[in-house]
Amino acid sequence: MRTLILGGTAEARQLAHIASGERGFEIVSSLAGRVRDPRLPEGSVRIGGFGGVAGLREWLGDNGIDAVIDATHPFAGTISANAAAAVRDSGIPLVHVRRPGWTEAPGDRWIRVPDLAAAANALPELGERVFLTIGRQGVGAFAGLTDRWFLIRAIDPPETELPPNHEVLLARGPFTVDEESRLLARHRIDVLVTKDSGGDRTYAKLAAARAAELPVVMVDRPPLPAGAEIVETVAEAWEWLRAKASGLR
Ligand code: NAP
Repeated sequence: MRTLILGGTAEARQLAHIASGERGFEIVSSLAGRVRDPRLPEGSVRIGGFGGVAGLREWLGDNGIDAVIDATHPFAGTISANAAAAVRDSGIPLVHVRRPGWTEAPGDRWIRVPDLAAAANALPELGERVFLTIGRQGVGAFAGLTDRWFLIRAIDPPETELPPNHEVLLARGPFTVDEESRLLARHRIDVLVTKDSGGDRTYAKLAAARAAELPVVMVDRPPLPAGAEIVETVAEAWEWLRAKASGLR
């Protein structure tokens, strides 16, 4: 069972780890190449875009792929849509692994917005000093906010236009609630902006914001293609793959 895992997430690495150790499964993980020093999954890895839907379809054919698991980040909407389009009418099964989004707990003050532009629009009423934890892509949506100050946290330096008043903090999580609380206090943060990524690894900032009674601008996820088959966990994805493999035998 030759399987392409579209990766760039902890789930994708876990799945590659499980499947690579099993007889009868051959895994190729794919990374976009955005992070300079990525955490590599076990097994074979290819890095870089495929060249749109047509390029991906061709790659799947050339590499004799039997199944595709889209375990990309919930905000990587283009590659998820491309995967769905590339397997259409090919007979290659595809599943999307989507961890559940975050939900508000008592004490949270979240403002849900549909995208980064709406997040930027919401900010002026919420505070002067903003903690931007949306990764380095998309920071340009805040470049026009000249009268706010931003703490921008990302793994690699942002390459887009930045708001004039900012500090870039290069760091890779996970972080503890204590660390996040200290960071909020040290930079006198008024408001946090985050994507609804879900999962435990980056949740601590939300607990810290709750403890500090800060508002959170929560950007909603892009939708998956209509009719997409979705699982929430690595265990379910592995079950799915095993079921597909037994159908092949
Ligand atoms: P995206 O907007 O959905 O995709 C843009 C283009 O990047 C795709 O059309 C594709 O290029 C290429 N690409 C994306 N993921 C790829 C993969 N796993 N393997 C090969 N090519 C890929 O993606 P993105 O939001 O920039 O995310 C890029 C990667 O970073 C993903 O692997 C994702 O899991 C990871 N990531 C994203 C976020 C986030 O917030 N967006 C957070 C953490 C990790 P072609 O059209 O040329 O094939």
